Amino acid sequence: MKIEHGELANGMQVVVVPDHRAPVVVHSVWYMVGSIDEETSRTGLSHMLEHMMFKGTDKFPYQSMDKIIQRNGGVQNAFTSRDMTAYHQTVTKEKLPLMMEIEADRMQGLKITDALLTPEKNVVLEERRMRTDSQPQSRFFEALVKAHYPTHPYGNPVIGWKEDIEAYNLPALLDWYKRHYAPNNAMLLVVGDVTLDEVMPLAKQYYGDLPPMDNVPQRAAHVEPLRDAPVWLVKVDKEVQLPVFYRLYRTPTFFQGVAGAKPDVRDVVALSVLAEILGGSDAARLYQSLVVQQGLADAASSDHDMVAAGESSLDVYVVPKAGIAMDKVAAAVDAEVARMADEPVRDDELERAKVSLLAETVYGQDDNDNLLYQVGSWILAGGKAETFDAWEDDLKKVTAADVQRVAKAYLVPNAMTTGVLVGKQQQLGALADKQ
Ligand SMILES: [Zn+2]
Repeated sequence: MKIEHGELANGMQVVVVPDHRAPVVVHSVWYMVGSIDEETSRTGLSHMLEHMMFKGTDKFPYQSMDKIIQRNGGVQNAFTSRDMTAYHQTVTKEKLPLMMEIEADRMQGLKITDALLTPEKNVVLEERRMRTDSQPQSRFFEALVKAHYPTHPYGNPVIGWKEDIEAYNLPALLDWYKRHYAPNNAMLLVVGDVTLDEVMPLAKQYYGDLPPMDNVPQRAAHVEPLRDAPVWLVKVDKEVQLPVFYRLYRTPTFFQGVAGAKPDVRDVVALSVLAEILGGSDAARLYQSLVVQQGLADAASSDHDMVAAGESSLDVYVVPKAGIAMDKVAAAVDAEVARMADEPVRDDELERAKVSLLAETVYGQDDNDNLLYQVGSWILAGGKAETFDAWEDDLKKVTAADVQRVAKAYLVPNAMTTGVLVGKQQQLGALADKQ
C-alpha cells in the first residue's frame, strides 16, 4: 500500500491512497476538531456541528446535497471522534469532482438558523438517550471513562453531556465552525481508483480558493496528572441484566505518553502485543483461564489502541458467569496481569500475537472505509503519511522481555481504573466495600 501526500497553497493537506481494484473512490474531508478540543460546558459541540453540516448552503440548500449524492449513486456519512470530525462519500470515480464541489462549498458556506438547530438538538438528545442514557452498560461505561480521565477532555463523551447539549445555541455553533473549519485545519483524503497526480488538479480547482484562517487553532496538549491510588467505580443498578467487569490501564499512544510523558514507540507496540496475548482472542490467556479452565466467565478479553492524539488505555473486559461474584473475577484478572509481569511470555504466544495484530490491520485495509479510517485517524492524531506503517517493523522487533518490561511499567495499581457493574448487591462479593 502506498500513501501519497501533497498540500495546497492555502494549507489544506491532500492525501491519496490509490487502490485500483474497483472504479470507486471514497472522498473525505477531515477537520482537526473533536471532543479533545472542547471546553467543559461545551462538550459535544463538534458532534452537534457535524449534524448541522448537513443543513445546506446557498448553493446546495437543505436536503439538496443528500438528493444529489443519492441521484449520483453515492452514499455519504460523517462521524466525530475524540480527535477529529470527518465527512465522506463513496462514489464512482467520475463523480469525484462533484463531491469536491459540494464538500468545498460547505467548508465555509454553511447556512444554519435556529429553526434548523432546535429540531436537530432534539435529534442529538434522542441519539444520546438511545445509545447511552437508556443503556445501563453504556451509561456506566461513560461514568467509568470520566473516572479514568477526571480532568482530560477524553473523560467527556464525544456526543456531549446532556445538559451541555440542551444548552447549545446558534452563536456557539457558528463560533465553533468559524474557529475550526478552514482549509489549513483540514485534510482531503481520497482512497480508491485515483492517484495524487489526478487528485491534485481537482483539489486545487475546488478547494484551492478557500481562504485559510489566520489563527489555526493549536491543539492544547492536555495532560491527565498521575495519581497515587487505583480508582474503583462499583455500582449496583437494578436494570442491569448482564454484569460486567472493566479494567482500564493508562498507556501511551504513538503521540502522547502517560501524563504527558514523551511516548516510546517500542512501548506502544509492545503493549498491543501484550493485550493480544492477554486477551486478543479465545486462545488468549484471559479467555483460557477465566472461561475455559476456571469457569468464572462467559467472555474475557483485552484490547489496546495505539493511535490517538492523547494517551490511551489497555482495556480488560469480562462478563462473569451467572452466580460468580465479582471479587473472584477481579482476583482472576489480577493473577493473569501479574503473570505478564512475573514471567516472560512463551515464544509461540509472542509469534501468534504478532501475526494476528498484523493480519487484523492488513485485512482491515481490504475494506476502503476501514482503510480510510486508519489513515485518517493516524494523520489527524499527529502522524505523517510516510510513517503510517512504520510500526510494523517495530512489531517484528518486540521480544518477550519487552512484553514483560511494559507489563511491569504500565500495568500498575496507580494506573488502573476498575469498573464493576452488577444488578444485585450480592454479585459484588467482597468488592461491596469498594462502593
Ligand atoms: Zn450523531
